[in-house]
Amino acid sequence: MITFDHLSKEYNGVYAVNDLNLEIPGGEIFGLLGPNGAGKSTTILMLTGLIEPTAGRCLIDGVEVAKNPIEVKHRIGYMPEDVGFYTNLSASENLDFFARLYGLDTSARKSRIDELLSLVNLDGVEKLVGGYSKGMRQRLGIAKALLNDPAVIILDEPTANLDPQGVADYRRIIKQMAADGKTVLVSSHILSEVSLVCTSIGGVLSQGGKLVAQGTWKDLTRVLEGEQVKILVETRSSMPEFSHPDLVSAEYSNEHHEAVITARSDIRDDIADALRKADVMIRQLTLDRSTLEQAVLSYYNTGDEQQ
Ligand code: ADP
Repeated sequence: MITFDHLSKEYNGVYAVNDLNLEIPGGEIFGLLGPNGAGKSTTILMLTGLIEPTAGRCLIDGVEVAKNPIEVKHRIGYMPEDVGFYTNLSASENLDFFARLYGLDTSARKSRIDELLSLVNLDGVEKLVGGYSKGMRQRLGIAKALLNDPAVIILDEPTANLDPQGVADYRRIIKQMAADGKTVLVSSHILSEVSLVCTSIGGVLSQGGKLVAQGTWKDLTRVLEGEQVKILVETRSSMPEFSHPDLVSAEYSNEHHEAVITARSDIRDDIADALRKADVMIRQLTLDRSTLEQAVLSYYNTGDEQQ
């Protein structure tokens, strides 16, 4: 579990992070979302113990980071935006170097490294890390973050350099970690990325490090949108008319095989249930992200006004 308790960081009297209060339980994949300069990296650096808060505290499983840096180091796996590796060593040699720092013995190191290289699809790659693509380095970064089998995994802009296969692998790995009960914190300025991987909880940091929205992804959609979301539906056979308390309008086309549904919340699950009950096969059921993106941008601006 990660706890931020009235956490603030000031640089020259200006807040990078401003009174952040959050609790992220084990098994969650939490998205720390915000534009560049919103304070995401500063939050993560305080959580990893690399910089000290001006006020407040971060705790990992109840242990205060600033007071117990060594203990905390063993509980967290951290992947920064740019992961540093020795370019003249192979992937397994690099991981072996870092595993030694964690004090793992030779046989534990070998089996852990083999397991992790296979997890990130880098097993059997002979070349030195200097010859890796950015995506390969990023996947190796994920393996490095998992070396000490951490309870908490912190990923700063994890998909910045990944190709589509890399993104798919990354999502699979992160979901597996959460299913194993680990706490995953993902920071990103890319809404679609956070919304795809963060299954239940999202957050939005505005400029000036203020948390302006928080909740489950569904709550956040509702809050962010204020009023409405658009859902695109495509089915194999004709759709029945759909009713729901949050439904605003439904425009059917193509002989009722397609619909644009406007609703006051993300009611995709209810639409899927209704279609399944009516034995209608679904071809597409997606949230129109553009409206969500706009809403997030308006939130960023709200944060600006609060400064
Ligand atoms: P993000 O990761 O969301 O892009 P950062 O945490 O890097 O944001 O930065 C938040 C704010 O704090 C920015 O305005 C940045 O310029 C400022 N900042 C970050 N680190 C320092 C530092 N070491 N000295 C002064 N200002 C800093």
